[in-house]
Amino acid sequence: MSRSAHPAGPRYADVLPEGHYSAPPADLNALDPKVWARTVTRTEEGSVSVSGLDVRALAEEFGTPAYFLDESDFRARCRAWHEAFGGAADVFYAGKAFLSRAIVRWLHEEGLNLDVCSGGELTTALAAGMPAERIAFHGNNKTAEEIHRAIEAGVGRIVLDSFQEIVRVAHIAQELGKRQPVQIRVTVGVEAHTHEFIATAHEDQKFGIGLAGGQAAEAVRRVLKLDGLELIGIHSHIGSQIFDMAGFEVSARRVVQLLAEVRDEHGVELPEIDLGGGLGIAYTSDDDPCEPREIATSLTSIVTRECRAAGLAVPRISVEPGRAIVGPTAFTLYEVGTVKELDGLRTYVSVDGGMSDNIRTALYDAEYSVSLVSRSSSAEPMLVRVVGKHCESGDIVVRDAFLPADIASGDLIAVPATGAYCRSMASNYNHALRPPVVAVNDGSARVIVRRETEEDLLRLDVG
Ligand SMILES: *Cc1c(COP(=O)(O)O)cnc(C)c1O
Repeated sequence: MSRSAHPAGPRYADVLPEGHYSAPPADLNALDPKVWARTVTRTEEGSVSVSGLDVRALAEEFGTPAYFLDESDFRARCRAWHEAFGGAADVFYAGKAFLSRAIVRWLHEEGLNLDVCSGGELTTALAAGMPAERIAFHGNNKTAEEIHRAIEAGVGRIVLDSFQEIVRVAHIAQELGKRQPVQIRVTVGVEAHTHEFIATAHEDQKFGIGLAGGQAAEAVRRVLKLDGLELIGIHSHIGSQIFDMAGFEVSARRVVQLLAEVRDEHGVELPEIDLGGGLGIAYTSDDDPCEPREIATSLTSIVTRECRAAGLAVPRISVEPGRAIVGPTAFTLYEVGTVKELDGLRTYVSVDGGMSDNIRTALYDAEYSVSLVSRSSSAEPMLVRVVGKHCESGDIVVRDAFLPADIASGDLIAVPATGAYCRSMASNYNHALRPPVVAVNDGSARVIVRRETEEDLLRLDVG
């Protein structure tokens, strides 16, 4: 299997941990709290429950595959991020990780802001009552229609991604008789992924405007000249699934340097910097993510130190965690269909979903954990590959996993940490029906995104 695709670009594929379990876990029935949502536990009967609800009953009621999202965990993570900065920063949840109207309401209630990057996400945010001024609009190719809608709605900021977009947004704002607050997204020459960050002279990727070669400084010049735009700050997002602060440190230093240049050239101190998202979560027991409080302390002290050195007032910081909030709060529940032993090679455990509900393994070689959840087992651990039901040999859910050797058709297994970039990246490949998202809270469960039906498929297919 070639490591052909990677969130930080194929060049960096070699930074992925080799990661395949060298030894089975000591206890296959144990549920590592690092990777499972907070209210997940094993019951006395041996099955697993979330918020007091047995997965066997949940499977009965909602079917499989399905995502179960722990609302109390989601809200607790929102609060942890909000409180970590003690009000000194704005937390924007990155909606692309997973967005629905219920999610928007929870964010609003917990005091978070929201990043959107398409007209569809904007519509969802507004439909669920997120105040427009708490929405940031991202994207490297926003259409004129999307920009129009965002400005008309009164979004709090548009993050400008190119020279063409500077002109486009300014023009539309003027047409609407508005002055639109904007940030400029810069690429700071740092790409971070997992435990590594890589500093490159210039980044060969589609997002942002390069600091190198004075491009970002030129973007600032142009924005400051346009009446339709109010420049409120500089934005930098360096990568995904990041576990240490070294990349943020370099990024913050370079952004602050730009702020100092802007002050020297234009006599203005920009009031905000946004350091993006990308903070890692535990997909397996080998991952060790930082707590929001550590991240907040570290980011705040980096920015403060750099600003002092440059003689600047400390700007307001914003951050954009997506995965770190929603990722750990959900698991995907599957039913085992077939167990196929290839003599001397490997055992394949097939489930009733696959790459249509979790593309990350195929797309990024992402690693996941998996547990038998409808019962406990004292059978020996067996190294298996958990695969889906799609017509692709790359349709892998968990590449290497230990399950009890007595795993059988009809068992329920669950993959934790699927709250981010699973439902939001789900497809209808093979005319699969995208699974529902069921929110569980205080001992009750309710569907927040329903399962697709065959009627849904036929409704789009106009014949
Ligand atoms: C994707 C993205 C995020 C969120 O990334 P996570 O890894 O989910 O935290 C934040 N900001 C921007 C600009 C992004 O593109």
